Amino acid sequence: MIEHKLRLIREQLGDKVQLVAVSKYHSQADILQVYNAGHKVFGESKIQDMTQKYQNLPKDISWHMIGHTQTNKVKYMAPYVSLIHSVDSLKLLSEIDYQAKKNNRIIDFLFQIKIAQEQTKYGLQKQELWNIISSEIFLQMKNVRLRGLMGMATNTDNPLLVKEEFLYLKSVFDQLKQMQVPNNQIDILSMGMSADYQLAISCGSTMVRIGSALFE
Ligand SMILES: *Cc1c(COP(=O)(O)O)cnc(C)c1O
Repeated sequence: MIEHKLRLIREQLGDKVQLVAVSKYHSQADILQVYNAGHKVFGESKIQDMTQKYQNLPKDISWHMIGHTQTNKVKYMAPYVSLIHSVDSLKLLSEIDYQAKKNNRIIDFLFQIKIAQEQTKYGLQKQELWNIISSEIFLQMKNVRLRGLMGMATNTDNPLLVKEEFLYLKSVFDQLKQMQVPNNQIDILSMGMSADYQLAISCGSTMVRIGSALFE
């Protein structure tokens, strides 16, 4: 069943859009089913859960942190995390840089931009993003690499609003790519979940985060 869903989703994504299988509510057995069907990129929203799964599951899985992250927990994922989607402050990024250095790694990350109207969604405003990337502190970080942006659209059945939010994020991404940010490789736009990934792809997404449409 999961194998079949994975195949259908992959057909829709084609070669240009990467899939993060969001396993946050799912067991290690479920993850192994997807893994055995040939998929090795998983997203989790809690560091403790991700670390436990990392320890118990095959070591060639790439683990992505997609949830709001507390600074004091960064150390648990720093040895192995492959992409952090949810960086929303300079303080958090400083800790990631520090822990990456301790582990002798360079950790890839995305800035999370707030595009939804709901109060509950985390993320930076565009101006805060520009302030961070032009700050001296950011310019001196050696153990993090900016790969792009992530955003979550409003949870609504109004596709016009969702489309507007996605196109806004794409425009910020395009502006970011034009900037001279040292030591970075800006090529990932993480946007789209189970309910809206097709729309996200039509708006320029390069990475979708899919949980329920795959696992349920
Ligand atoms: C849970 C979650 C997803 C996946 O949501 P689905 O609707 O189950 O596909 C994607 N992104 C983030 C940030 C999430 O927390």
